[in-house]
Amino acid sequence: MNSKTTEAVKELKKAKNAVILAHTYQPGEVQDIADYVGDSYGLSVEASRTDADIIIFCGVRFMAETAHILNPNRKVILPAPAAGCPMADMIDTSGLSALKAQHPDKLVMCYVNSTAQIKALSDICCTSSNALAIAKSLPEDTEIIFVPDRHLGTFIQEQTGRKMIFWDGCCPIHAQIEPFMIEQARKKHPNAPILIHPEAPAESRILCDYALSTGGMCDFAAKSNENEFIIATELGLIHTLQKANPGKKFYPLSDKLVCPDMKAISAELVLAALEGSAGEEITLDKNLCLQARRSLDRMLEFSK
Ligand code: SF4
Repeated sequence: MNSKTTEAVKELKKAKNAVILAHTYQPGEVQDIADYVGDSYGLSVEASRTDADIIIFCGVRFMAETAHILNPNRKVILPAPAAGCPMADMIDTSGLSALKAQHPDKLVMCYVNSTAQIKALSDICCTSSNALAIAKSLPEDTEIIFVPDRHLGTFIQEQTGRKMIFWDGCCPIHAQIEPFMIEQARKKHPNAPILIHPEAPAESRILCDYALSTGGMCDFAAKSNENEFIIATELGLIHTLQKANPGKKFYPLSDKLVCPDMKAISAELVLAALEGSAGEEITLDKNLCLQARRSLDRMLEFSK
């Protein structure tokens, strides 16, 4: 990355009292200029705590929406307005309303990878790092409608024994992970534990050593006595892990696990967003924000 860009970003950030939040799947150069790099949960917490006037949100639209819902009085800018999440777009309000009408006595738990409209129709939100604890905390005699990721839902059901109804959505990036890829990686690096994201299909997940959120993978790698790891999630996490653990080796399960939406932002685009020549300010209807915030607040309250 151009050092002039880095310097210009630093100066503008200070002058405008802006903060740059970046997801761990962002390109390395974006992670390197961010004030905070983390998973969806960490980003939600940071967004709820910041006192910056402007949040430059380097991630996809649902994440920037979440930051706006948690900070309605601050300016949240998504540098690449077209960066969406195909999984979040796999469910709409009419589909969820119909499912709720079919099962009126069930609780709706939505993955944070969902639109503000879906959050507004849900009882509680979760991320992959707190999903198990949140599912366990819900009244035992109540079934859970889980949206939109059937793979994460299956994982929660297996781990908690909860009765659940799933929406048939998935992350197209993690859905590409097939059992043969795990077997090949194991042969190539027999001593490295395989860490996989629970958005991956169960038939691949069960062949791995640990199913962890991206934040969970970062904690695990930092604390582990192992020196090498196979990482079965989006490629961007390799940069985060390698930077935090320079003495350890991280092998991506596949170079093809790249989310194009997450890679739509560059350092130059972050600079342009700070200058005001790129990006979109995220704004949502006030009532929608209030309704969506309830499910996010329940999650944040629970995780305190
Ligand atoms: S990696 Fe998957 S879940 Fe994450 S933004 Fe891309 S498509 Fe959505």
